Amino acid sequence: MKKRLEKASNKLREANVTLNVQKWHFSQPSMKFLGQLVNKDSIKPDLTTSTLLSVDINQLSLPNEEDAATLLSESGISSGHLLFSASQKDLQATLDKHLFDNLFATFGIRDQARLTALSHPSGTSNGWLKAIPQVSLGLAIPGPEFVIGLRIWLGVSLFPLSPLCTCLSTIDNYGDHLLGCSQGPMRIRRHDALVNIIYNALSQDHPGVLKEQRASYDDGLCPGDVFHPDFQHGRPAYFDVSIRCTTQPAFISSCASCAGVAAAAGEVAKDKKHLAAVEKVGSDFIPLVVETFGVWTPFALKTLQNIADRTTPRSGVPRKVARKNLLQQLSVQLWSNNAKMILRSWALQGSDDDDNPLFP
Ligand SMILES: [Zn+2]
Repeated sequence: MKKRLEKASNKLREANVTLNVQKWHFSQPSMKFLGQLVNKDSIKPDLTTSTLLSVDINQLSLPNEEDAATLLSESGISSGHLLFSASQKDLQATLDKHLFDNLFATFGIRDQARLTALSHPSGTSNGWLKAIPQVSLGLAIPGPEFVIGLRIWLGVSLFPLSPLCTCLSTIDNYGDHLLGCSQGPMRIRRHDALVNIIYNALSQDHPGVLKEQRASYDDGLCPGDVFHPDFQHGRPAYFDVSIRCTTQPAFISSCASCAGVAAAAGEVAKDKKHLAAVEKVGSDFIPLVVETFGVWTPFALKTLQNIADRTTPRSGVPRKVARKNLLQQLSVQLWSNNAKMILRSWALQGSDDDDNPLFP
């Protein structure tokens, strides 16, 4: 043994290799070296590295065999306790999704609808949280409104006393009725805040852009929050902004499993009422529908991106930045006005600040 060590040491010295005595282990049956597992019989890939993982399925705390089978199949695993090839990232993503799905199933339908909206891939529900609070860009949210917005976002109770809305209905603990009520306080201000942002952006594209310019047709007036004389293909366009409540009773179940269902239904209703009539007078009707939690319809999102793109020749900012800025401004105004509606409603109850459940 000693002779072999001397021989090995001499070889290393000749090769000018210095050894760290702290890392020198004797009498090992095998060792890891450059990602390989070396023993006296063979050299094989080290299966404990990040590219190849050894997992005991029994340790994953899967609730039943069906879940385990799904997880195995999604991860490309053919049987239970075994070695398999999968990147650590893929495995982690599968496990994360599995854990999220299990956790999600334990929530009530309202929280499911809230979380589905807030995790929408567009990110428009969370833009206000990431905004740098610049007043000049309309991205600043006053403290009280930010706190209320955060409580709505987190699903924290807002109205423990169940007060009455101005429509005389009872306001639920989370303010869902208030945010969706057609007679609630500040609802027009919330709508107008979004319209102003879209008007300002469109004004950079064409000098003839106007607010409150309605198309008239046989059966009445088309809602035209913003008018553009030449939006696409030389045709005038009437933009109509509306806000639908994510948690309204008619759509809460659908919104729990698919984000944006309430907004999509709002868009269908708007189109049904106005599209054909506006097209008949040679114009385009463009409904821009968003939910209270911030999810826009796919059509509205695409249109808003188009509007943002049109601001870039004047502003000089890249399209990606212009899109992000526009959506973030809308997100800030939507959430801060949601909060204003809650605060205003609380003020209308006439309670003094000491009893205010919003700031216990
Ligand atoms: Zn009401």
